[in-house]
Amino acid sequence: KELTDINALADEYLRLAYHGLRAKDKTFNAAMKTDLDATIGLIKIIPQDIGRVVLNLITNAFYAVSERKKQQPEHYEPVVSVSTKKLNDRIEIHVKDNGTGIPQKALDKIFQPFFTTKPTGQGTGLGLSLSYDIVKAHGGELKVETKENEGSMFIIQLPDSL
Ligand code: ADP
Ligand code: MG
Repeated sequence: KELTDINALADEYLRLAYHGLRAKDKTFNAAMKTDLDATIGLIKIIPQDIGRVVLNLITNAFYAVSERKKQQPEHYEPVVSVSTKKLNDRIEIHVKDNGTGIPQKALDKIFQPFFTTKPTGQGTGLGLSLSYDIVKAHGGELKVETKENEGSMFIIQLPDSL
């Protein structure tokens, strides 16, 4: 583990994900927003691992907004936002989208390995299960709040440990 600036990491991975997706699909457009809590100091994490979790969540968020854009081409502005927050006993990273949301039926399964609703070749179904394990290994929790046709918010909770 290394002392890491989580705000810089979140910002960097949001850009990385955006450019990766734009490289694959030039027509893709979404507003990216960040709201980073400047009172967060350095936290002790494995930066590559938490970075990978953030990247997975952002990649899923971009997918969810592009799907909704396909279903609803007009009067819809895709937005993906990443925010960080310092609470009493923990640090949170929120990855929020106004995409398709997750149906109740799928919600119980999304953290299971190989569960995917994406067409063959587009998803392995491993992103969230891997992310869950990484966050757990850091002594944290990975949670989700979602509503169909409104969007989702994934919450990474990490102990505020030095
Ligand atoms: P993959 O992205 O390869 O499908 P994941 O483990 O990352 O695998 O996600 C599993 C499933 O959870 C996705 O196929 C999708 O159905 C659902 N999901 C994950 N994130 C989101 C999101 N932000 N919005 C809507 N559905 C999501
Ligand atoms: Mg994924």
